[in-house]
Formats: sequence, C-alpha cells, structure tokens
Amino acid sequence: MTARVLIVDDIPTNVRLLEARLMAEYFEVRTASSGPAALSLLADGQTDIVLLDVMMPEMDGFEVCSRLKADPNTAHIPVVMITALDQPSDRVKGLQAGADDFLTKPVDDVQLMARVKSLVRLKALTDELRARAQTGQEIAIEDATRAMDYANSDGGRILLVDNDARNAERLRSYLAAAHKVDVLANPADAALTVAGGTYELAIVSMALGDLDPLRVCSQMRTLEQTRSLPILLIAEDVDRPRVVRGLDLGVNDFVMRPVERNELAARVRTQIRRHRYAAELRQSVTNTLALAVTDELTGLYNRRYFDRHLSLMLEKAREQDRDMAVMLIDMDFFKSVNDNHGHDIGDAVLKEFAQRLKRNIRGVDLACRFGGEEFVVLMPDTDFRQAQGVAERVRMSVAERGFEFGTGRPLKVTCSVGVALNEHQTDTPEMILKRADVALYRAKREGRNRVVFDAA
Ligand SMILES: [Mg+2]
Repeated sequence: MTARVLIVDDIPTNVRLLEARLMAEYFEVRTASSGPAALSLLADGQTDIVLLDVMMPEMDGFEVCSRLKADPNTAHIPVVMITALDQPSDRVKGLQAGADDFLTKPVDDVQLMARVKSLVRLKALTDELRARAQTGQEIAIEDATRAMDYANSDGGRILLVDNDARNAERLRSYLAAAHKVDVLANPADAALTVAGGTYELAIVSMALGDLDPLRVCSQMRTLEQTRSLPILLIAEDVDRPRVVRGLDLGVNDFVMRPVERNELAARVRTQIRRHRYAAELRQSVTNTLALAVTDELTGLYNRRYFDRHLSLMLEKAREQDRDMAVMLIDMDFFKSVNDNHGHDIGDAVLKEFAQRLKRNIRGVDLACRFGGEEFVVLMPDTDFRQAQGVAERVRMSVAERGFEFGTGRPLKVTCSVGVALNEHQTDTPEMILKRADVALYRAKREGRNRVVFDAA
C-alpha cells in the first residue's frame, strides 16, 4: 500500500525527519512550510493524507485543518495533527477542527506508520465510493457535501465490550449524554451481538480476561454485516504492540488509559461521523445506480457499468502510477448444469456463485456479471501478489463446497480465472480485458478450476 502524503511544518528539520521515514516506506511525499502553502498544494487533489504541525506562525494547524475540512473538495482528506504539546485540550481542539488523528513529537515510528496506514485504507474506500458515484452521475461532490451536513455525530449507537463492570460504567457515563451505549459484559458474544444490531461503533476494551480482544475485532471485520463498522480500542500502555497489530487488522482508532473523557468523546464523534458519511454515500450511490447498472439475477453490477468504471479507474491508476488488476471468471461446464438440471437450477448456481464471489473479494473491489456465466472483478491499487491472493480465495470458495439447493445432492461447481494487470502506459481497457481473456482461455485449456496470470 502506498499513498501521497503532504507534510506541513514550519521547521525544515522536522519536515526532513518525517520525509525520510515515509520515503523509506515508499510513500510519495510532498512538503509545505506554511499553512497557505499547504492549502494551495492541496487544491490539485493529489493528496491522500496530511501530516500537519499545530504550531506555525501566520496560520496555525487548527486553522489549516478547519479550512481544509470546510472545503468540499478537500473535506475527505484525512489529517493527522502533529503537536509538541501533549495536552488533551489541544487534542480536543484539533479534533473539533476536524482532524482525524494525532501524533505527539517526538513522533514514534511505529505509531506514525500504523496511523498513516490505517487512514490511507479508509481514504481508499472513500475514494472508491466517490468514484463510483461519479461513474453514475457526477454526483459525488454534491452528495459528499450533503452527507457531511447530515453527518451530525450525536445520537450514535455504540456497543461497549468490557467485562469489567466498573470500567464499563465509567466509559458509558462519559458518552451517555450524547449517545446510546449498550454494555456487553460477555465479550465472547461480541461479534454476533454487533452483527445482529444496528450499531455505528464498537468500543472494545483490551482487558478481556482470557479472551483475545484482537480475535473479537477480527471476527467483526470478517462478518459481512460488520465489516465497515468502526472499532475503537481502549488500551493500557503495555498493550501498545498489540494496538499496532489491531490497526493492521482494520481497527480504526484507540484511546489509552487513563481515558480522558474529552478525548474519548471527540474520537467517538469522529468515528461516527465518518461512518455516517460513508453510509450516506453508499446509500445515495445505491439508489441512483441500482436500476440502471445492476444485474437483475445476481445483484452484481452489470457490464455497462463495468465498462465505464474500468475506463475511469484505469485513467486514475495511470495518473497516480498505481497498480490495478482485472480478474475474469468463467464457470466451468456451465452449459451442462443447464442441460442436466434445468434453467432454474442454473440461475440458482449463478446467484450462489455471486454470493461467494462477493464474500471473498475486498471492500474496494468491484464485481460484475459480465454476461452469461462470465464474471469480472476490478481490483484497484492491487499488485500481482494481492491479486493472486484474492483470485485463489475466490476459486477455492467455489470449489471447496458443493452448491446446495434443498433437494438432491450438492452440485459440484468450479470456475476458471484469468488475471491481468495494467502494465503499460498505453494500456486501454480493451487491452487489459483481452489479456485477462487470454489468461482465462489458458486456464480452461490447462484443465479448468485454476487461476492463470497473463504472461505479458
Ligand atoms: Mg511548528
């Protein structure tokens, strides 16, 4: 995962220090030495995340952040405030200005990377949603603005997972004035409880006795219903290494004990606001596009939508010099399913296949029914190795377990997969699809039920 980072600091030494650390991790870095300089750089839309010094002459970090968050063209860019003052009041002031996170000088390497990566992942998802909306009707900016207005962050529905009743009650009391908080004393039920409810945030204590809190978090990340639910950890200082693991697993944020009530309130607000923002975008995109661009049988996107989206995403990948993969999937011997079992069963197989496909790709991937028994998945910002992982997972999920339709024996179904990446500056959507198709053809010829990569 790479991203374009803008470092803003009035002291050149600080800039160089951060720049060196980020470049070592292959981030693309730009720098600005003042607030106004930063704002003018941000205007070109080529920034994924901002590291922002608080103390600067002329215009301080709070002011820069407020302006950036007030502009619909930049409001979605995550901001990490960097402050020398480890004062909770500064953190609250920054979070109120719209900052997404904090780091304290001197900046801890592990924390820097973990927080940057976590926010970049969120940004990728938001970008993807915005791009989908754009593909539909150029409504992205308009809707994003509307969503931000709606995204009042009060009245959140929160599940607090903590088996220490006294701790739980204290945290609940910090949040109860603004939100509805349920406390779950038995953490083993956490994943199922959130999946069954309508929660907007899960707060998980890292002190859960015998139970591994990261196990709880990864279960929430795996379940379809809670995949995008924000998770906030409550940690002790000794938990730090595991907090980092948690961020890698997709945990969104953490607060250290002793918990400072304003900081907790502000971080909770930020998470709920983001969650509602994404939900609103998803909803409006769904409504606008549902009829025109969905395949009726499987509920996946249709080919018309895919063709437009592929052009757009390829252009973006090229501009930003990023990888992109396309995976073409064809069910094996599908004609014989129709011939031997009838078209109703054939349709049921396609539906079940689409379900398994959706469950085994990632949130940023876009799956479409290409026509007949052929499917295609667009995977943005994905290299060879990642594409291979996803493609194998999809293939396995189909082959490993028969398809059951109530009566008769489960039907054994397999699929063949061809994958191509954007390799050359001159690649067109047609060329990439063609290469994926050639790879798919090879997969068929070499015996089916396999993944073959384009050899270009
Ligand atoms: Mg400064």
